[in-house]
Amino acid sequence: MPQLFIGFLLALVITFLAYSAHSLSRSGAYAAVLVGTLIFGLGGWQWAIILLTFFISSSVLTRSFRKRKLALNEKFEKGGQRDAAQVLANGAVASLFAGLHFFFPQANWPWLAFAASMAAVNADTWATELGLLNPTPPRLITGGKPVEKGTSGAISLYGTLAALAGAALIAILATALGAETGFLTIFLLVTLSGLAGALFDSLLGASVQAIYRCPQCDKETERHPVHTCGAQTTQIRGWSWLNNDMVNLACALMGAAVMLVFMWAGIAG
Ligand SMILES: [Zn+2]
Repeated sequence: MPQLFIGFLLALVITFLAYSAHSLSRSGAYAAVLVGTLIFGLGGWQWAIILLTFFISSSVLTRSFRKRKLALNEKFEKGGQRDAAQVLANGAVASLFAGLHFFFPQANWPWLAFAASMAAVNADTWATELGLLNPTPPRLITGGKPVEKGTSGAISLYGTLAALAGAALIAILATALGAETGFLTIFLLVTLSGLAGALFDSLLGASVQAIYRCPQCDKETERHPVHTCGAQTTQIRGWSWLNNDMVNLACALMGAAVMLVFMWAGIAG
C-alpha cells in the first residue's frame, strides 16, 4: 500500500509537468495519473523507468521537427496533446501486467510481457514521428504502393529503423533492470516483440483501420467526425470501431502476446 501511495504522488508530479508542457490534455492527465500509479505502485521503480522512458521520449519526439510535421499533422487523428483514449491505448496492457506482477511476484512473465508491450508502443511512436523525416514517400505495408506521408499503414526505411531503435531502447532497459541470466536472449526477444507489435499496427492501418475522407480538402484522414478544417468526414474503408486508439491498443497487445509465445515455446525463461 505505501508503494501505491508513493506511485500516486510520483505520477501526480510527472503528470503535472507533462500537462504544463501541453503534452497531455485534461482527460489525458487523469488517465496518466491512473496508469502511472498502477505501474509504479504495483510494478516498482524498474517498471516506472520503462514507462517514463516511453513517455518522455515520445513526448520529445512529438515536439521535435515541428515545422516539417506541421504540413502533415492534419493527416493524423489528433495533435500533440495526448488525451485519455491515447494514454490508455498505450498504457492499459502495461498496467494489466503490472497488476499480474502484483499477484504473481515470483513470476518473470509479467515483467517481460510488460516490457514487450512498452517496446511495441515505443517502437510505433518512434516510427510514426521519425518516419516522417524519410526523404522519399512511404509505401503501404500491404503491396508496397507509394503513398503520401502520414498515411495509415505506410512504412519507410527511416520509420522501420526508428521502430527498431525504439524497441531496442526498451529492451536494453528490460535486460538491465530485470534480467539475471540470458541477457542477450531477453534483449533480442523484447526487441523482436516490440517490432512485431509496431508492424502489426501498420498492417491494421493498411487494412481494417477506419479511414475517413474530408470532402472539403479531398484528403484521406483518421479524423472523425470532423476534420481539422471543420468539415464532416465520411468513412471510406475499414471497420468503424477500429480507430487509431484501438489500433495502438492492438499494437501493445501484440507486443505482449509475441513475448508470451516466445516464453511458452521455451525460448525465454
Ligand atoms: Zn478538411
